[in-house]
Amino acid sequence: MKHFDAIIIGTGQAGPSLAARFAGAGKTVAIIERHKFGGTCVNTGCIPTKTLVASAYAIHVARRGAEYGFATGDVRVDIKRVKARKDAVSGRSNKGVEDWLRGTKNCTVIQGHARFQSTNTVVVNDEVLQAGQIFINVGGRASVPDMPGVHEVPFLTNSSMMDIDFLPEHLIVVGGSYVGLEFAQMYRRFGSQVTIVEMGPRLIGREDEDISQAVREILEAEGIQIRLNAKCISLAKREDGVVVRMDCNDDPKEVAGTHVLLAVGRVPNTSDLGLDRAGIATDRRGYITVDDQLQTNVPGIWALGDCNGRGAFTHTSYNDYEIVADNLFNADHRRVSDRIQAYALYIDPPLGRCGMTDAEIRTSGRRALVAKYPMVRVSRAYEKGETQGFIKICVDAETKQILGAAILGIGGDEVIHVLLDVMYAKAPYTVIQRAMHIHPTVAEYLPTILAKLEPFV
Ligand SMILES: Cc1cc2nc3c(=O)[nH]c(=O)nc-3n(C[C@H](O)[C@H](O)[C@H](O)COP(=O)(O)OP(=O)(O)OC[C@H]3O[C@@H](n4cnc5c(N)ncnc54)[C@H](O)[C@@H]3O)c2cc1C
Repeated sequence: MKHFDAIIIGTGQAGPSLAARFAGAGKTVAIIERHKFGGTCVNTGCIPTKTLVASAYAIHVARRGAEYGFATGDVRVDIKRVKARKDAVSGRSNKGVEDWLRGTKNCTVIQGHARFQSTNTVVVNDEVLQAGQIFINVGGRASVPDMPGVHEVPFLTNSSMMDIDFLPEHLIVVGGSYVGLEFAQMYRRFGSQVTIVEMGPRLIGREDEDISQAVREILEAEGIQIRLNAKCISLAKREDGVVVRMDCNDDPKEVAGTHVLLAVGRVPNTSDLGLDRAGIATDRRGYITVDDQLQTNVPGIWALGDCNGRGAFTHTSYNDYEIVADNLFNADHRRVSDRIQAYALYIDPPLGRCGMTDAEIRTSGRRALVAKYPMVRVSRAYEKGETQGFIKICVDAETKQILGAAILGIGGDEVIHVLLDVMYAKAPYTVIQRAMHIHPTVAEYLPTILAKLEPFV
C-alpha cells in the first residue's frame, strides 16, 4: 500500500490546481486520471468547441464580405483543417496539464481507473493507495437517454463530435439547450443542413422566454430548422442515415438526416467509483452530496466540479477548488452559496448571463425594476454590423442592487462581468452610472440602460 497526504481522482478543472496546492505546501499527493488530462473542458468541452465556434465565426463573416466591402469568392470550408486547428488548440492544453502535473515535485501522477476500497483507500491498476484526505473530481459525460432505437443508430455525442473530420450532410441535433445550440450553429456555418429537435416548448427552457425567442430567431435566420414540443422521440436507421421520429404538434412527424447528435444533458461519472465501499452518499441522479464547503458525508472526502451537482461549468469547478483550498490552507471559510450564478452560451452573438432569471425574480416575490435595450441601438454593434440581441438588467427596487442580467449580443460574454462584479461588491447599480466608460463599447450603454428602469411585471 502506498501512502499519501492527499489523493485526487480526476484531472478536471479542480483536481490539478488542488494537487499543485498540496504539493506546494510540501505535502505528498497522488492524482489519478483514467483518460485524457484536463478532462471535459480541455478535450471535449469548452476549449475545442470554442475553437470550432471561432472557425465558424470567421467563415460566417467571410460569407458576409460584400457587406463589409470585400470579396472572397466562394467560401469553401476545409473541415479537416478546421478539425486540425481544434486538435492543436485542445492538444496544447491537454499537454500543458499533463506536463504541469508530471513536473510538480511531491505530486505522483497515475493513469488508470480509480475506485474506492474504503473511506481512506483507493484502488488503481491493482495498487492500493491510502490518504487521510481524498478529493473526487471525476466530472460527467453526455447522457444517453433510453429513447426507442437509440442503440440501433450510430449517434454522436459531444465527445465523438470531436473526432469527425467530415461534414455531415444533414445533422439532427436532439436537444435544444446549451451544448446542442453551439454545435447546431457551428455546423450550419460549416455548411451542413441542421435540424434541432427539442422536447420542450422552447429552446434553452431555463432561460427567460424573450431570450429563448431571440435565440430561436438568430438560429432560424441562418437556416437552422427547429422542431419544438417533440415528445416521444425515437430513432431509426435508414440506408443513408438516421430518422428521428417525434410526436409534434406540427407536421412532419419525422426528420430524416445523415447524422444525429444527442445533446440532452449530462450524467456524473460516479457509478463506477466504488462510492458504496466508502459510504459516500449521492442523490438519486448520482451526484455526490456535499455541504456548503464541498465535503461529502464522509469526513476527509470532498467532491468538486460537475460530479457534485452544484455547478456544470469550468468556472464553477475551478471555484470549487478555490473554496476547498482556501478552507484547508488559508482558514478562509468560503462557501458555495457565496457565489453568484454566471455563464455564457457561445452561439454567435453570445449570451452572457448572471444572477437571477425572470422566473426566479418572480418566485422570490421581490419588488424589482427592469430595463431592456436592443443591440440595434448600441453604436458599437451597429458599427460592426452585428446588431442581433438585447441587453436586459433587473434590479431590486429597494436596495438598488442588481438581481440579474442577460446580454445577448456582441461581446455579451465579456460585458456581463461589469454587472457581475458590481453584484459581488453588493453595490447599488447607481455606481455604474457614475463610472466613465470607454467609447465606443457595448459597456458604455449600461448607464444609459439603467436610466430606463421600470417596474418588473
Ligand atoms: C460541449 C461542451 C461545451 C462546454 N462548454 C463550456 C464553456 O464554454 N464554458 C464552461 O464554463 N463550461 C463548459 N462546459 C462544461 C465544462 O466542460 C465542465 O463543467 C467542466 O469541464 C467540468 O470539469 P470537472 O472538473 O467537473 O471535471 P471534468 O473536466 O469532467 O474531468 C473529470 C476527469 O476525471 C476523470 N475520471 C472520471 N472518473 C475517473 C476515475 N474513476 N478514475 C480516474 N479518473 C476519472 C475523467 O477522465 C476526466 O478527465 C462544456 C461542456 C461540454 C460538454
